[in-house]
Amino acid sequence: MTTVLGAADSISKGVWVSRAAALKPETRLFIDGAFRPAHDGATFDSFSPRDGRLLCTVSAAGVADVDDAVRAAASAFERGVWSRADRRERARVLTRLSDLMLENLDELALLESIDSGHPIGDARRVDVPQAARTVRWYAEAIDKIYDEIAPTPQSALALITREPLGVVGAVVPWNYPLIITAWKIAPALAAGNSVVLKPAELTSLSALKLAELAAEAGIPAGVFNVVPGLGPVAGQALGRHPLVDKITFTGSPAVGRGFLTYSGESNGKQVALELGGKSAQVVLADTENLAACAESVAWGIFYNAGQTCHGGSRLIVDERVHDELVDRVVAVGRTLVLGDPLDEATQIGTIASAKQLERVLGYTDIARAEGADVHGGGRVRPEGLTDGYYVEPTVFDGVDNTGRIGQEEIFGPALAVTTVRGAAEAVRVANDSPYGLAASVWTSNITTAHAAARELRAGTVWVNTFDASDIITPFGGFKNSGSGRDRSLHAFDAYTALKTTWINLGESTLPTD
Ligand code: NAD
Repeated sequence: MTTVLGAADSISKGVWVSRAAALKPETRLFIDGAFRPAHDGATFDSFSPRDGRLLCTVSAAGVADVDDAVRAAASAFERGVWSRADRRERARVLTRLSDLMLENLDELALLESIDSGHPIGDARRVDVPQAARTVRWYAEAIDKIYDEIAPTPQSALALITREPLGVVGAVVPWNYPLIITAWKIAPALAAGNSVVLKPAELTSLSALKLAELAAEAGIPAGVFNVVPGLGPVAGQALGRHPLVDKITFTGSPAVGRGFLTYSGESNGKQVALELGGKSAQVVLADTENLAACAESVAWGIFYNAGQTCHGGSRLIVDERVHDELVDRVVAVGRTLVLGDPLDEATQIGTIASAKQLERVLGYTDIARAEGADVHGGGRVRPEGLTDGYYVEPTVFDGVDNTGRIGQEEIFGPALAVTTVRGAAEAVRVANDSPYGLAASVWTSNITTAHAAARELRAGTVWVNTFDASDIITPFGGFKNSGSGRDRSLHAFDAYTALKTTWINLGESTLPTD
């Protein structure tokens, strides 16, 4: 992830630990402008992956709560308090929200860090500033978009305008809670929609803080609602609600496909899916700077402990540079500081949950059974912590791309290395995947780079880099990686519908008197 704004001076681990202990996060549902518990009083436990300790219990929205949130959103939309507000007014309020996010940067970063296990330094320098920038970017864009006039005969005027859809349900995962939330709610709100956000069970806290800031910024009651809860209950209720006009989902392919079923069995609402990935980092024999390449390959998979949907989890490397590159990647992995998320020196934090930890560690056994050479891959525990979900950077070398390690999304700090010869074979192996979210190609030949970029079936292709991106470019996948696109001005297409207004002008001549 690209750093967009610098955080303030560094803060010691001791200070972060005591701030975390003193934190009293909001844990209730946010519906129609107010925080309240679930109707039936249901809650779920939220644990910190930093040390496995119970952080708090969070209200679990049931079907009736989701119904309240959707009805509040629909009513606000119909009243036009936001949907028909002047675009400049929506821009002003969203800009204020972005400012408030930065004013509350440390608290948001701390919530994100203890809830998701992101290193506090990343949360301060990347997650919160990027989310705030996303909100500001769409606020600034919304009054600079023009609609269209169709090329009719002179006897008519046909306007093609973009109108907000109505109620947008946003269902998000735990790996980048704030950033992915901002990618969805910022363009949806800027375009005039009402939003009901369902955060992931593992990471609800920053979304609830965001709700508080949204209200403070002046987003009217009912326009932005947050319903934490269990996926099969609250997520499903949102997916099936007849007053929801669109679901924008990021998460796993199986759950994403479930939303298509919910839509088909309810009101046929639009569904945009951003699903998983198994992105290939292709390194060709003519790559000039293998040291820089190795650094990029390692960060491309190990950042956020590999819990990045577009993480470069496959290295497809030409046999002529294999040995040197793999040695270098393993060496970079060893230098990364794996540790307590509340220490600003930490570069790699935790796996998000105990369940996910078991899953990731299980893939090391699968890799051995499939005949790979395993570098790293063990569970570790930073000094001073008795529990927590930490896995060292792992390289599986000698992977058959058609096996489980080559095909399945591990979602941990694990790189699968497959050796090929020549660009054609490299691209063929890279494309041999059910996913198509992202890919990179390393070469010193610009013609080869273009040809490879053209042939790689992925929503984003990087050349001689990895994960260089920003809100200015679209993001989403091909194949099982989904159909939707977040980010860039194209996101407005996802949250608006085209309307044609055809005006009969009759005889188009000037009156003579
Ligand atoms: P998940 O699919 O389990 O959960 C995502 C969201 O769906 C959560 O809010 C969850 O509560 C909800 N949900 C779960 N079961 C549900 C159900 N039966 N009905 C309705 N809602 C339900 O995914 P996750 O484990 O939170 O996230 C990890 C996955 O997300 C990985 O596969 C990763 O690659 C993917 N991901 C994709 C992108 C992308 O942009 N393509 C980005 C981040 C993560």
